[in-house]
Parts: sequence; C-alpha cells; structure tokens
Amino acid sequence: MNIEKLVRKNILELKPYTSARQSHSEGILLDANENSFGTVLPEEDFWGVNRYPDPYQKIMREGVSKFLNIPVENLFFGVGSDEIIDLAIRIFCQPSIDNAIVCEPTYGMYKVACDINQVEVINVPLTNDFNIDINAIEKAVNERTKILFLCSPNNPTANLLDKEKILELTKKLNIIVLVDEAYIDFAQNEGLIKYTLEFPNLIVMRTFSKAWGMAGVRCGFCAASKEIINIFFKIKLPYNISKLTAEAVTLALQNIDKRNEYIRMILKERERVYSSLKSNKKILNVLHSDSNFISFKVENPKEVYNYLEKNRIIIRDRSNQFNFAGYLRVTIGTPEENNLFLEKLNEIL
Ligand SMILES: *Cc1c(COP(=O)(O)O)cnc(C)c1O
Repeated sequence: MNIEKLVRKNILELKPYTSARQSHSEGILLDANENSFGTVLPEEDFWGVNRYPDPYQKIMREGVSKFLNIPVENLFFGVGSDEIIDLAIRIFCQPSIDNAIVCEPTYGMYKVACDINQVEVINVPLTNDFNIDINAIEKAVNERTKILFLCSPNNPTANLLDKEKILELTKKLNIIVLVDEAYIDFAQNEGLIKYTLEFPNLIVMRTFSKAWGMAGVRCGFCAASKEIINIFFKIKLPYNISKLTAEAVTLALQNIDKRNEYIRMILKERERVYSSLKSNKKILNVLHSDSNFISFKVENPKEVYNYLEKNRIIIRDRSNQFNFAGYLRVTIGTPEENNLFLEKLNEIL
C-alpha cells in the first residue's frame, strides 16, 4: 500500500521549517533569541524553560516507547489527541474535495475538526448494538475518502469495537484508519497499537488525559508506520510539546503503579455504579462499559440532567446525539462522588 498516494500534494512537496533546537541543543546557545540569563519563574520548579524544548521530545518519547514496547520512530506526540486529529485531517484531506467517515454516535471532535478544515464528513452509523458496520463502511468509501475515524472504546457508547472487524477493514481499504483508544486503559484489552507496526495505514491514538490523570497537561500521542509519523513531524508546529509537558510525562512514567491503582479503583467503582443503575427500574437501559464512564437511558433526560445540576452534580446530556436519544453519560468519580450522584439520581427517578 502506497501511503504517499493518500497524502495531500502540498504536504508531500512541503519544505518544512527548520527550528534552532532541531540542529543544536548544547553549547553556547545564542541561536534562538532566548533569555540566556534564566526565567522569571522559580528556577528549581520550572525545568529550564528559558530554552525552547526539544522538537523531537527524545527523552519523553523513549520513555513512552519503552512503556508501550513500540519503537520511538513509530510514535508522535500532540497537544492532546485533539491536535493529532487535526494534523491527520490536514495531512490527508484536501479541503472541499476529500472526505472522512465517522460512525455515530461517537466523539464529536472528529466532525468538528473536519468542519474546521472544510472536509466533508460521511456518517456511517454504528449498528444497533453500537459496533461497526463493515459492509456499510465499505459501501460508503469512495475515491475521495481518506480517513475512517473509529473510537474504541467508543465515546459515548462506552464499548470496545470489534478488533477483527477493524483489522479486516484496515487490510481491505486503501484509506487511513484512525482508531482513538483514549479509554483503552479501562478496557482490560491491549488494543490495536501493536498492529500499527504491521498495517501501514493504521493510526492508533492514545492520551494521558484519562487514566493517567493528566488532562490539564494536554498530551496525546499516536502510533503509526514510520512513513506516517515522519509526515506528522514534517508539518507539526516546531515546539508543540512544551518542556513542562515532556517533564510531566517523563515523571508519570516513573509512577506507573499509581496509574494502575487508579484504574483498579475506577473499575471497582464502575462495577458498583453499573449495578446500582441496573437495579433502578426507571432506567430504560444501562450500556456495558469498557471505559471510565457509563451511559444510561431515561425517559426524561433533560429533567434528570437539570435536577442533578441543581444539586451541583454535573453529568453529560448526550440525548441530542445521533441514534442516542434519551441517554445521559456519567463519569466514574470517587466513591463519595458516585454515592452522591446515585442518591440524587434515585431521588429524581
Ligand atoms: C477524552 C477523549 C480524548 C482525549 O483528548 P485529549 O485531547 O487527549 O485530552 C480523545 N478521544 C476521545 C474519544 C475522548 O473522549
């Protein structure tokens, strides 16, 4: 499969900007108009931020590479997954000409990022049990289709998508298959990341925003073939990942036990919240969850949402999403938070 054929011509021909820290990061650095004296921030706490960060994030990438058992050359980091979604669209989709496929109900950012880039979005709905409809996807693909966005576990339906079906499509279709695994840490499933070494058109995206408890840091990443990763590097903003971000991620990787402990606690709470929701006769459906949230269906979602909000419990009303009428989505919180949520929910229902 020829990835270059999928890449926009202007991106293939682009002569990238060469930043100062790309060529030198040591010596008497008088090349980037930084402040050589230091920073106004308290020095010990702020990791040498008077210098521009390493554009390749060498130390951080090596850490993540070791953690995932994926070669450094197959990893790219962005300011949250959101940046990766946007870059993927800009690499592969010619505005007003190409299109991308999403399978709703799913994460809204794929469509928004396409809309911003003026890229047509084709919705191929998930099946009734919220899995991918491979026949419908194959039918929907045309010669202008460049990316298929999949989310597994899917937000807001919370379930893993069928791995065999995703791989079958990836093998069959001459388009980029981008699988968003933001919630894979809660799925007790290794996900698809290792297959990026085998399939040249597969991109698997992950994030530090969920299980790692680092949503405020803004760091997401993807694994893909070297060919694709090189193009991401070619078009990224030179210093997209700050020194603070890279340091935070490096520190996080020294604390994997803590992440695992969070996952364990969240899964335990998920079980408890699920059972409690299931036992409420007024709840029309509770979806099985492979994620850190649960979606459930009620007759009066707006009313339930408003009652909880009045009681300072904020959940997400997803009832306006395509094929998702009646559904509310609640994130699994601490035991105390979950108890309050369940208590107030039982009051209104
Ligand atoms: C939360 C979430 C992300 C994470 O986005 P970041 O920009 O990395 O914080 C990605 N995909 C989905 C489906 C999500 O729900």
